[in-house]
Amino acid sequence: MSKHTNMQRDVLILNLEEQLEGIAKDQFGKVLKDCTDREAYYVLLEMTSRLMDVTELNNGEKKIYYISMEFLIGKLLSNNLINLRVYDRIKDILAKNGKDLAKIEEYEPEPSLGNGGLGRLAACFLDSIATLGLAGEGIGLNYHFGLFKQVFKDNLQVEEKNDWIEKNSWLEKTDTTFDIYFGRKKVVSRLYNMNIVGYRSGVNKLRLFDIESIDEKLVKEGINFDKTKTKNNLTLFLYPDDSDVAGNLLRIYQEYFLVSNAAHLILREQKERQYDLHELHNHAVIQINDTHPTMIIPELIRILVEEKAFNIDEAISVVSKTCAYTNHTILAEALETWPLEYLEKVVPQLVPYIKELDKRVRAKYKSSKVQIIDKEKKVHMAFIDIHYGFSVNGVAAIHTEILKNSELKDFYKIYPDKFNNKTNGITFRRWLFSCNSPLTDFISDVVGDGFKKDATKLEKLLEYKDDRITLEKLDEIKMLKKKELAEYIKEHENIEIDPESIYDIQVKRLHEYKRQQMNALYIIHKYLEIKGGKKPTRPITFIFGAKAAPAYVIAKDIIHLILVLQEIINNDKDVNKYIKVVMAQNYNVSYAEKLIPACDVSEQISLASKEASGTGNMKFMLNGAVTLGTDDGANVEIHELVGDDNIFIFGASADEVIKHYKKADYVSKDYYTKSPVIKEAVDFIISKKCLKVGHKENLERLYNELLNKDWFMTLLDLESYIKKKDEIFEAYEDRDRWRQMMLVNIAKAGFFSSDRTIEEYNRDIWKC
Ligand SMILES: *Cc1c(COP(=O)(O)O)cnc(C)c1O
Repeated sequence: MSKHTNMQRDVLILNLEEQLEGIAKDQFGKVLKDCTDREAYYVLLEMTSRLMDVTELNNGEKKIYYISMEFLIGKLLSNNLINLRVYDRIKDILAKNGKDLAKIEEYEPEPSLGNGGLGRLAACFLDSIATLGLAGEGIGLNYHFGLFKQVFKDNLQVEEKNDWIEKNSWLEKTDTTFDIYFGRKKVVSRLYNMNIVGYRSGVNKLRLFDIESIDEKLVKEGINFDKTKTKNNLTLFLYPDDSDVAGNLLRIYQEYFLVSNAAHLILREQKERQYDLHELHNHAVIQINDTHPTMIIPELIRILVEEKAFNIDEAISVVSKTCAYTNHTILAEALETWPLEYLEKVVPQLVPYIKELDKRVRAKYKSSKVQIIDKEKKVHMAFIDIHYGFSVNGVAAIHTEILKNSELKDFYKIYPDKFNNKTNGITFRRWLFSCNSPLTDFISDVVGDGFKKDATKLEKLLEYKDDRITLEKLDEIKMLKKKELAEYIKEHENIEIDPESIYDIQVKRLHEYKRQQMNALYIIHKYLEIKGGKKPTRPITFIFGAKAAPAYVIAKDIIHLILVLQEIINNDKDVNKYIKVVMAQNYNVSYAEKLIPACDVSEQISLASKEASGTGNMKFMLNGAVTLGTDDGANVEIHELVGDDNIFIFGASADEVIKHYKKADYVSKDYYTKSPVIKEAVDFIISKKCLKVGHKENLERLYNELLNKDWFMTLLDLESYIKKKDEIFEAYEDRDRWRQMMLVNIAKAGFFSSDRTIEEYNRDIWKC
């Protein structure tokens, strides 16, 4: 098989140009030169798919099943071409035919299968699993309208359906269908595959399940649809609005649909390979990405007992040796608990098994804190994973320590050996090679291209820390990327920004704990300073990008405030020479790929202890941005790697924050009353100026929230934030020092390659 496919591949690659012309002729009856960019995209899609079809499948005796509700994979064309090692050749052929790959890529719709960090992590992991040649696959859902598309109207976020699936796409329809039961209600699933090709390696599959009976017409306006029509709506959207009961039930339907399909797929594969299911753990390892796929545990146990003649002890034992759990958050509201009554409604067949698992825990451990079903009859999904999985991992060193010592300490006492840390990573193929080829090529010129396979080789750059030419070149590349971004923002947001200004960027999901509101308060502070005659040395461009969950009211109010500031500041002639605000519309992977290479200051300002890891921070660092952040998540490890001189850290520590929560002694109003600077900034939210362009209801609600609640302690760190931020902008003026900081950040980013993370998962957990 392998020799054969390699040969086919070589033949295809030898004749790339001929192949492309052949496809263009078949599909459009034209030569490549005469194809539109859109047509050229479909030609490349077909060519790339053919190449992947003849690339060897990564195989092995033991297989990883990475189960996740989200895979935020981004556009695939460029990455696939890079990983297949034909990127440069394709680019040359296109150029010969008067075409630009970057323009063609604009026609690729971005798959909308994820929300933010967690989904992006799953995508980076697939890339690394494939690159390392491990046998493994992702299992997820094929959401037709994915996460919503964000548009701004009247300074508010409006959600529209994201219609990303086209007739020709990376999705391959398969013959595999399963009957999935919700009690006695049956739906028929259908499996779609996407190829994930590794860098200079074989391919793996992303398995995406859909329903046969989907009805896209259910979506009437925006993202609203009848949530009760399960047979027709199951895979319409990711994270349907779960602020009501029907939304909650639909979410459980989706979760069970995912895991039941996964269980069928895995067991079918074991059968095809003639493995004894008692040995499941020797041939399969299931990584549960956050609690959403937790029901895979009772579902597998149920099937083994009811259909494979296992007794319950055997079933529990083998499943527990097969499943491993990744925790992504300590935010209480994100640790899923489902009312038992909901589970009884949606998946009655699982409930006896969940009760049995709970009963066994009760028999062994008296503490109410570790019981699966609490006294309010709520099922704690994470507790199922911890009791009945063999590994529990956090996603950054500090996060894992907080799990062990605080959030999950009762479990850590029982199962110290299950807990382990796997600091997140990112794939450098996408977040350097593909999104920043000038920087990639330059690094290759300076230190050779060993870093492409072994990212730690980036450290060789440190030898050039005092080399003026290298430092100036880094700056030139940054300027090039800043100009490109300025053009893109002009085109997409109709805002003109100055590439000579400092680009200060905060892009990530909108959440109070990430504290975009603190950044907005700084901007207000700066605005008032400029109005008062104190001007910054150099213009600053503040860029945001963030979607807010449709039902998260305060998050949407924060977006509103930022849009209001954008309108006020960008139109104020006294001020817009010095600062500008850009709220990028519909932040997604493609936008991230344009923003990150152009960034000077990377904003990572979460309330310490709340950001499990972050991966945006790693992408920015790799592209030569300097971090302004709290000692939280992976910022802690970035800090350790680059040292005090190459990062700007401020704010309360995780320990201090945890103490505040324990003692419940944080009173935001005290900070407001004590500090004129804070008071002035907060008051501005409901000033005449803001009310004139904004909505009273939204602005007042946000103002009151900050003053009376502020659960994520914005005002606690605001003063130290202002101070540190002024400091980092000042540091930018010492151009030599800044360039050195850029270099050190790039040089030290190697640790954050997801190849390293996946090697650790495999060494400690999967053992494939
Ligand atoms: C990396 C990434 C994220 C995660 O960003 P954080 O700053 O770690 O929250 C979210 N969305 C997109 C599109 C990303 O590429």
